[in-house]
Amino acid sequence: MLDADFFRRWMTATSASVEREAERLTALDSPIGDADHGSNLRRGFAAVTVALEKEAPRTPGAVLILAGRQLISTVGGASGPLYGTLLRRTGKALGDAPEVGPEQLAEALRTGVDAVMQLGGAAPGDKTMIDALVPAVDALGDGFGAARAAAEQGAEATTPLQARKGRASYLGERSIGHQDPGATSAALLIAALGEADT
Ligand code: ADP
Ligand code: MG
Ligand code: MG
Repeated sequence: MLDADFFRRWMTATSASVEREAERLTALDSPIGDADHGSNLRRGFAAVTVALEKEAPRTPGAVLILAGRQLISTVGGASGPLYGTLLRRTGKALGDAPEVGPEQLAEALRTGVDAVMQLGGAAPGDKTMIDALVPAVDALGDGFGAARAAAEQGAEATTPLQARKGRASYLGERSIGHQDPGATSAALLIAALGEADT
């Protein structure tokens, strides 16, 4: 079973890997964006870490709702409301149970990813974070390692795609040949599940 501590570790592991990879995320956002994805997420997840320490939410759902709220209020870019919605809606779907099973987490994440697609209007293949998140949720039944591999593959598979949503879509065909920064950071978020599972 996964308790509030697991979800706190998930968020702090994400924060640490975003911090580590911030320059790469920003570099990916340079040719097909405005070169701020790494700094956007670094600021957002730093705020998440501070808020979790200060408020110490006691259920898995409350951890994710608080994290999502921080991302929405501290990240100016498109990714803030999108990741914020992902975590908030996943947290809401977990309800107020003190512990949840892996199947419940998979189901709740599916709800969260659906909410991101609703909010941003992106579908798989549009070259966004959705291209990493959907395969990850599909693979989650086979464990965190499988979800991580699926997310990383999904992120790499955005390279030959033409962007149809977000800033990169303004480039039309010139967006082809670059890996999507948001799909890359989504793979970090999914990989952090495995790091939290100690
Ligand atoms: P901004 O584009 O406002 O500078 P970021 O650079 O932080 O925001 O985030 C860009 C990432 O957000 C993209 O790489 C893409 O994965 C994701 N993104 C942008 N628009 C959408 C959307 N409508 N739906 C899903 N993801 C999106
Ligand atoms: Mg950007
Ligand atoms: Mg921006």
